Amino acid sequence: MRLILLGPPGAGKGTQALRLVAKYGLVQLSTGDMLRAAVKAASPIGRKVKDIMQSGGLCPDDIVVSIVAERIEQPDARKGFILDGFPRTVPQAAALDRMLKKRGIALDAVIELRVDEDALLKRIENRIAEMKARGEPLRSDDNPEVLRQRLVAYRKQTAPLVAYYRKQNVLRTVNGMAPIPEVTAAIDKALPPEPSTPKSKPVRNGAKRATAKARKPKAAVHLGKKSSKRASSLRKTAAAHKSVGRKSKSGETARP
Ligand code: AMP
Repeated sequence: MRLILLGPPGAGKGTQALRLVAKYGLVQLSTGDMLRAAVKAASPIGRKVKDIMQSGGLCPDDIVVSIVAERIEQPDARKGFILDGFPRTVPQAAALDRMLKKRGIALDAVIELRVDEDALLKRIENRIAEMKARGEPLRSDDNPEVLRQRLVAYRKQTAPLVAYYRKQNVLRTVNGMAPIPEVTAAIDKALPPEPSTPKSKPVRNGAKRATAKARKPKAAVHLGKKSSKRASSLRKTAAAHKSVGRKSKSGETARP
């Protein structure tokens, strides 16, 4: 399954992604995490994006697209992935379309976590204040001013993706303001049914049964030809034939 979680910062994309990872065995591809790792490692990409990230703006499309293109090639992403925080602009979405098309794969769903921005801002400000009070580490962009900037960036550059994916008929919108388990349940409901896994077994079993059935009449025809005497003795003859056949192979007596 290949999914996108779409929603402003603080909408709960990361929380829901973790739940989907646990449930469906997908990998979570968070461009925010990848970029923070690059900043921490002071790599050339990290040095380019550090200031942008700290101000709450969006990093250049070409940089983000190239790290995603590389990441979805990794073996762990072949089975499926959840994109968390990507795409964030229409050019990124178009680049993703091309990437997937080239690999012959498609998106299963884009889940939009719809939230009320004012309520969200209050929620995040409270969370930041609580974390500070507990002395917990904060992200460098975890402050109300930067958050406002990130919301502005979302509205301007990312929100148009709602229409973009609605047009592609893959958009599913859930209420991101509901309690976490309710959001999870709504996402589960919105996802397309899992492809193949539960269906494949009965088909294989069915095929086996069909083969076994197909063999029986053949044996009966074969027996029928050999025992030319009475039609009513066909079953006995068959048993005798089986018995002989097994004895000749294994020396055991056939079970009735
Ligand atoms: P996140 O952890 O997803 O909230 O991302 C943190 C920051 O990383 C964002 O505020 C942006 O500066 C940058 N970032 C993450 N993903 C993208 C993206 N797809 N396009 C541009 N910038 C991104």
